[in-house]
Amino acid sequence: MKKKIPAAKGTRDILPREVVNWQNVESVSRRVFELYGYREIRTPVFEATELFEKGTGETSDIVIKEMYTFKDKAGRSLTLRPEYTPSVVRSIIENRLYLKPDPLRFYYIGPMFRYDKPQKGRYRQFHQADIEVFGEEDPAVDAEIVEMADYLLKKLQVSDTETLVNSVGCQKCRPSYIKDLRSKAVEASRVLCADCQRKITMNPLRIFDCKVETCLEVAKTFPKITDYLCQECENHFSRFCEYLDFFSIKYKVEPRLVRGIDYYTKTTFEVVSPRLGAQDALLGGGRYDDMMKEFGGPDLCGIGFAMGIERLISVVPFVEEKGKFLYLAYLGEESRRAGMEFVQLLRRAGVECLIEYKERNLKNQMSRANKLGAAWVLIIGDEEVKRGKYQLKNMETGVQEEKSREDILKIVRESS
Ligand SMILES: [Zn+2]
Ligand SMILES: [Zn+2]
Repeated sequence: MKKKIPAAKGTRDILPREVVNWQNVESVSRRVFELYGYREIRTPVFEATELFEKGTGETSDIVIKEMYTFKDKAGRSLTLRPEYTPSVVRSIIENRLYLKPDPLRFYYIGPMFRYDKPQKGRYRQFHQADIEVFGEEDPAVDAEIVEMADYLLKKLQVSDTETLVNSVGCQKCRPSYIKDLRSKAVEASRVLCADCQRKITMNPLRIFDCKVETCLEVAKTFPKITDYLCQECENHFSRFCEYLDFFSIKYKVEPRLVRGIDYYTKTTFEVVSPRLGAQDALLGGGRYDDMMKEFGGPDLCGIGFAMGIERLISVVPFVEEKGKFLYLAYLGEESRRAGMEFVQLLRRAGVECLIEYKERNLKNQMSRANKLGAAWVLIIGDEEVKRGKYQLKNMETGVQEEKSREDILKIVRESS
């Protein structure tokens, strides 16, 4: 027996029957993003490691534990993207997109990579839909992207979701919060896990990302960032909430929602689904007003969100495959050639056709067509070739009739 090579740990195949659901989620997402003025941007799968260390943040769990980092043959340190935002920011600066008249609204759907502990529904190659807006300071845009997310979920028939919002302040007001948070965390350090104890000095905000039960309990007693916001951040947050009301979006203020990424400023939000269990966020995002500047670009604010496709697929109702197709059944070499030729014509006319080249008798071909769910079977034998008329069977009604090629084309095209 030859050795079988399995898929790499933490990866999986998306098989044809499942792909239908992926295509549905992807096409609905694209359509909705484009309705709101977003355009697709495709960046490379790997980037210089530095980009994520600086962008995603050196104290984030992603950078500390979860990156797929490797050296290429020339000794450069590269990383498979663990998230999309730093790549978009890099691309905008590099291509000077901010000098163009086009709106700075981008979306992307594709794979991301994190060296995470594989568990149910979590993979090392996973997929996200990501949107970003740049240069819009007004909180109306914060609310608009939440409203867009809400509309997208409605279009995908996802119900029972909850929208959580928060503000994480800015560089002016956050330091005093971090100071108080750190001293509270020091007081409670005995009960915190080893990871969180390390976070006390590095970045105590990250304690809120910990999923350990005792840490979760202690974190509830910590001060709330919303009590520390400066005037500007407080105004931004209250106007954001007003605009959510304006859009009739129901939401809950969750002061412990700081998100696992270092670059957020002001608005953060998540849409969660109780059907997902502990990892309950379907999508999440926030504002990152300093990132572009930090990367040597113009002083342009940014905001966006990322949506987990695997999680979304698990809550979106299953799509029934509805593609109608014609199965060609033939008897003998001459009929096969006539069939191949006619099928080519039907396909050019937009009719989905299947012809299989393995020798089978008519009975077996009919049962294949039935099993595969063909809408019609076209039967061609020597007699049919001579007459130039073929047998068309409608699989739903069971009616079989001899028809000319023109009629067949007309019938199947009309009901395709
Ligand atoms: Zn502030
Ligand atoms: Zn912890």
